[in-house]
Amino acid sequence: MAKRDIKSMFPEEISSMLSEEMGEPAFRGRQIFKWLHEKGAESFDEMTDIPLKIRENLAGAVKISNARIIEKQASQKDGTVKYLFGLDNDNTIEGVLMEYSFGSAVCVSAQAGCRMGCSFCASAVSGLSYSLLAGEMLSQVYKISKDTGKPVKSVVLMGSGEPLDNYENTLRFIKLINSPHGMNLGQRHITLSTCGLVDKIYMLAEEELQITLAVSLHAPNDEIRNRLMPISRKHKMDELLLACKRYSDRTKRRITFEYALIKGVNDSEKCATELAERLKNMLCHVNLIPVNDVKERNYVKSSTEAINAFARVLELKGVEVTVRRKLGSDINAACGQLRKGYLDK
Ligand code: SAH
Repeated sequence: MAKRDIKSMFPEEISSMLSEEMGEPAFRGRQIFKWLHEKGAESFDEMTDIPLKIRENLAGAVKISNARIIEKQASQKDGTVKYLFGLDNDNTIEGVLMEYSFGSAVCVSAQAGCRMGCSFCASAVSGLSYSLLAGEMLSQVYKISKDTGKPVKSVVLMGSGEPLDNYENTLRFIKLINSPHGMNLGQRHITLSTCGLVDKIYMLAEEELQITLAVSLHAPNDEIRNRLMPISRKHKMDELLLACKRYSDRTKRRITFEYALIKGVNDSEKCATELAERLKNMLCHVNLIPVNDVKERNYVKSSTEAINAFARVLELKGVEVTVRRKLGSDINAACGQLRKGYLDK
């Protein structure tokens, strides 16, 4: 049987494992948790104030999950750094560091590959290979923070994979990174992006979290969305927007709708008008993203004029809109592109 991952455990869980399975004092649980999450320990040997016998028992009973840096690409333009990580089971994933005026943000992957099959996304090309443990998601953040020597101020679950398709581990990740005994990252500094798994959005709404929910919409209607995102055939847009409404009603948090503009597909002013109609009564904001051209698909980004015209329509109709600053465009920082290049090699 595979060893449990201690980095994915809450302090109470470490404590009860110590006391119930090893006959050791429970207070060591919090101490070990701090080693893993505050000091970024990667082995039990580093935990010098924990008695050797406990360290040996732990090393026999559990593992410390990790993500090692295989490759790094730094943008010459804007300080974005893309990391290719290797997991203990040989899967590879990507994490991205982005520099903003408020500090560093890290983009985390929840899965190696993805099974959602969005037609514009490089992560979807070869399907899902692995769903990450919470500890493996945390390792991406800790490694990047250690590598840059800077604290991480926000985390976005927008790397490869669908976080809500790895629900339990993702939720654990959020609670662990938010833990006062660990990184203590505020929930409002965490964004989870989903392609729209409706049942899971309802579940998430009941978790009483203050994280930001970002929903990848990319279309103003089912007809266009069906062409881009297979999930749209399962859940109609009306159904998705109702779930979003429920999320914002429960949490009082504004939803972010992501909309990647693809030339001639979803970027007309008619599309913008239709989108504004559908979103007009929602507590939300639209983030327009020029699509990253992915060469195996035939999508080209919209012109700056088309993007601005799209934004203007939304604004005039009272829908809040921002155009995403395009970071890392010179280093293939679009989802899954670095990993895909590595696997192709
Ligand atoms: N599965 C989640 C999170 C991962 S992708 C989701 O679908 O939201 C993070 C964001 O990048 C999503 O909005 C996704 O639709 C978008 N994305 C994927 N490929 C892209 C591309 N080629 N250009 C622009 N955005 C892309």
